Amino acid sequence: MPSGRTHDRITYLCLPFVAGATAWITRSPSTTIIVSLSFLAGGLMIGPDLDIHSIQYRRWGPLRWIWLPYQIAIKHRSHWSHGPIIGTALRVVYLSIWLALFALIATQTLNFFWNAQLSWQMMRAPFRTLMSKYVMEWVAVLIGLELGSISHSVSDALGSRHVQRKRRKQGQRDRRKTGSRKRSKRVSRRGR
Ligand SMILES: [Zn+2]
Repeated sequence: MPSGRTHDRITYLCLPFVAGATAWITRSPSTTIIVSLSFLAGGLMIGPDLDIHSIQYRRWGPLRWIWLPYQIAIKHRSHWSHGPIIGTALRVVYLSIWLALFALIATQTLNFFWNAQLSWQMMRAPFRTLMSKYVMEWVAVLIGLELGSISHSVSDALGSRHVQRKRRKQGQRDRRKTGSRKRSKRVSRRGR
């Protein structure tokens, strides 16, 4: 399977194609930017390898611990992290839960120390507007994230197939070598 750096390189190499295809299909500069940035995020930070102590995990810096429960719950390279759609969907839901938790802690802290009188009802209205007004933009974000994840999973699959083929060839070579050694031993014994 490719290393973290190779995955990064693949993400950067695929970016012009993703951006070009999005621009060609949507004819919208803003959608192209959203899909491209989400693709980068999906490949570099919110990718499938968050299920181990990977380069993607380390990029979360001081906040990387939020992915520890995810790593405990999900086996590396399982369908839940590397599977198409389900992998991205699960990470988005998981991250949303953490964001909601952080928002809850922030509002409670503000209310407690500064009597800010913030409530969930007050926050619900702008959140709803954000979700309903920008549906297409959110869809573009999800598509970008999914494309980033797919580029990772595909290179993982191709990488492990390449390794398997190499091992098989090496095995054949080893078998041939031991076979010829046995044969030459037999010949030399007969010659004695
Ligand atoms: Zn992977």
